[in-house]
Amino acid sequence: MHILVIGAHAGDAEAMAGATVLQHTTRGHTATLLHLTLGGKGHPALGEEEYSQQKQAEALAAAAALGAEARFMPYRDGELLSTEEVKFAVADVVRGTRPDYVITHWENSIHKDHTVTHQIVGDALFYAAVRAFAREQPAHSVRGVYYAENWEDPFGFQPEVYIDVSSAYKGWLEALKCYQLFRGGVSRFPYLEYYQALAVIRGAESGFKYAQAYAIPALARRRRLETFPL
Ligand SMILES: [Zn+2]
Repeated sequence: MHILVIGAHAGDAEAMAGATVLQHTTRGHTATLLHLTLGGKGHPALGEEEYSQQKQAEALAAAAALGAEARFMPYRDGELLSTEEVKFAVADVVRGTRPDYVITHWENSIHKDHTVTHQIVGDALFYAAVRAFAREQPAHSVRGVYYAENWEDPFGFQPEVYIDVSSAYKGWLEALKCYQLFRGGVSRFPYLEYYQALAVIRGAESGFKYAQAYAIPALARRRRLETFPL
């Protein structure tokens, strides 16, 4: 199985789904973390160029710690646009990596890059799946798309699928600490504590010690039955 996680800024994919990724990679599955921007504008002391370089190195270290591959798109923090060019570029990554499952941002966010990423990924999966869009790589349809939790994307998020990440929890926190953002000193938001606590809450709700929860597309909620289950 291959899982592709697409985040707006380096660090998003790991926070939203890093424990899920590690849960799978330790079982022999593979994963790619695709960062649409490096998120280089958020540092209180460093300029965008310098912080972007730091975040790229952090993203490579975090991906290695999660047993995943990091991929980067060349777009800039805060300037991500939902254009056909970007959607086809992401579709090409989907066709190239051929994931079974894609995880990305929920649709409602306080951050414009997150909202736009949700839109880009939805259309990119369509472009990746339809053979008539002639690209270098052959068409590819994913088995499912899941929307992850992010403190900036809470509005209307309804957790539907819970993944047991109990055995990956500790390793996931270590991977997050590859980023200064999670070690502290970049943002006043308590990143590490928030995602730790969220895994505890989702675990409690689902009967696991720790869990990561996902929303699913409206169509995926449909059940087709001949009779009610006995
Ligand atoms: Zn972000």
